[in-house]
Amino acid sequence: MLVLLTGGTGGAKLVLGFHEETAPEDLVVVCNTADDSVVHGLHVSPDVDTIVYTLAGLIDPAKGWGIRDDTFTVLDQLQRLGNESWFRLGDRDIATHVTRTRLLAEGQPLSRVTAALCRALAVRSTVLPMSDQRVETRLSTSVGDLSFQEYFVKARWQPEVQTLRYRGMERCLPAPGVLDAIGNAAMVVVCPSNPATSIGPILAVPGVRQALRETSSRVVAVSPMVQGRSFSGPAHKLMATLGVEASVTGLAGAYRDFVDVLVIDAEDQDLQPAIEKLGVEVWATSIRMDSLDDKKRLARDLLQLSS
Ligand code: GDP
Repeated sequence: MLVLLTGGTGGAKLVLGFHEETAPEDLVVVCNTADDSVVHGLHVSPDVDTIVYTLAGLIDPAKGWGIRDDTFTVLDQLQRLGNESWFRLGDRDIATHVTRTRLLAEGQPLSRVTAALCRALAVRSTVLPMSDQRVETRLSTSVGDLSFQEYFVKARWQPEVQTLRYRGMERCLPAPGVLDAIGNAAMVVVCPSNPATSIGPILAVPGVRQALRETSSRVVAVSPMVQGRSFSGPAHKLMATLGVEASVTGLAGAYRDFVDVLVIDAEDQDLQPAIEKLGVEVWATSIRMDSLDDKKRLARDLLQLSS
């Protein structure tokens, strides 16, 4: 069993690579849920949905989120009725959120709801939310206190971020199966997701970081950055909130207590000695994943590290 820790768009690229290169049943994908929000009364789990749609072959490949060829009739009408529409929800995507909201209202935990959605969409891998309890990333910024979606989507990650916190984290527990999966994995892969807003919350779930330190399986992390910049989005800007510099050396510093190998881009190879000094092994290769072939190649190479 291979355990993948991931956020949404960046992590999903590598998740797809593994899905194509291994038996899908052998994958356990643990998703960040600190970006979850209630939109038009519906419970939206953006990272879980990106992963489920990716594994179901439904993802919109151009955007990296949402359902391919979806329409926006409901959102247009919601806007006409005076609702905000900056958070884009397609019509078919809304069906997922209606179903999730109904099942949660009936008393099912998010992990069971996610399993039901996976079954309905013929996903063969196991997708686990990091927790069944509600956790929310809050950013204190130059324009006030924002949720992750307000910062990322509405404000297009332009405000300066001073601090970041995961509201509700102290009361939450890992979802059923998360700790067992980490403990029994053949390998754990920390996907190239935002270290502050995607991986950070998963690591902060009580018990998860300790399980990663204690597991006998190899823990491998793939960098979401090259030359001090993210491939997309604000990850490099948010590294300071973790108390480290925006570079793969900073990333190694943030993950050094549980990561065995950090996979960095060949362009960052000059930083290998500094990372090794932190006690983290380095593997330098091409970590950009534009095509399906890139995703499969990186997944195939990572599988070699488990043996
Ligand atoms: P979010 O939940 O949608 O923010 O998605 P993630 O946190 O999973 O992914 C965002 C991260 O993916 C960003 O930090 C990007 O730099 C990273 N990313 C995007 N494309 C690539 C890629 O091709 N290769 C690597 N290594 N990282 C990528």
